[in-house]
Amino acid sequence: MTSEPGPGQAFSTASPGRFEDGVVLPVVNQKGGVGKTTTAISLATALADAGERVLLLDLDPQGNATSGLGIAVEEDQPTTYDVLVDDLPVDQATVPSGTPGLDVLPATVDLAGAEIHLVGAMSRERRLKRALRAPRSQYSITLLDCPPSLGLLTVNALSAADALIVPIQCEYYALEGLGALHRNVQLVKDELNPGLQVFGYLLTMHDGRTRLSEQVEAEVRRHFGEEVFSTRIPRSVRLAEAPSYGQSITVFDPSSRAAVAYHRLAREVIARLPAQHAMEASHEST
Ligand code: ADP
Ligand code: MG
Repeated sequence: MTSEPGPGQAFSTASPGRFEDGVVLPVVNQKGGVGKTTTAISLATALADAGERVLLLDLDPQGNATSGLGIAVEEDQPTTYDVLVDDLPVDQATVPSGTPGLDVLPATVDLAGAEIHLVGAMSRERRLKRALRAPRSQYSITLLDCPPSLGLLTVNALSAADALIVPIQCEYYALEGLGALHRNVQLVKDELNPGLQVFGYLLTMHDGRTRLSEQVEAEVRRHFGEEVFSTRIPRSVRLAEAPSYGQSITVFDPSSRAAVAYHRLAREVIARLPAQHAMEASHEST
């Protein structure tokens, strides 16, 4: 890259069409504790630092992406729940994150009730897709922090998505559960979102001192090839500490290895966008 990318510049100039209005990239894996929320927060701030206009939408009733950025949700603050259940426009529920360029749509435990409220609703799987239609042009990248399940909230994320970021923890049984995720992705492709694809698999909590991390990495790369980001996220105590200060690692300890890794990942994400579009375009022209 020859210059600092401006807002949306990385792909909007080169690739009209599908990604013109910005991309929606859920961070998804139904396993808990694999680094979804940490990645959503850290990548969101790193992308904003790189000049992107980013929305981080908290789609997990645990609200860890919200609290991890130091956002305290007041009684009258609208949240993801209001957007999904009551059709509140996204721009009426977003809050600034403290990092320029990054807005957050917060969630609280109320969101757990959304699945129940939506059971009888029309197009309940597409509520989020519809809600994100307008904001897509306002943000170059929308990240969704998904809950650790394959329930209706995650199905909404898959339906609204252009492509998925799938964190994989570098530990024993790393690939366990990905079969179920892929089956759900296929169902959503068949029924709701034919263009859905994996944007990238991300190795998290990598510990270069252990053979296990090396073995898991080798296995994941053998399995998924180029779909695996070359950036690995190291295991880092600083990263685990950051949420208790309500700060992304890029703010909490910007020179830490983890912050450097997430900035590198942000560059890799930006670089993948036109390539993804080119792939898409060549499929369409055949
Ligand atoms: P998920 O959202 O998939 O449940 P989290 O991002 O909340 O996962 O991570 C689970 C736990 O692991 C959290 O306590 C988090 O601080 C910690 N963690 C995440 N990534 C790392 C890392 N690279 N190094 C050390 N701890 C991490
Ligand atoms: Mg989480």
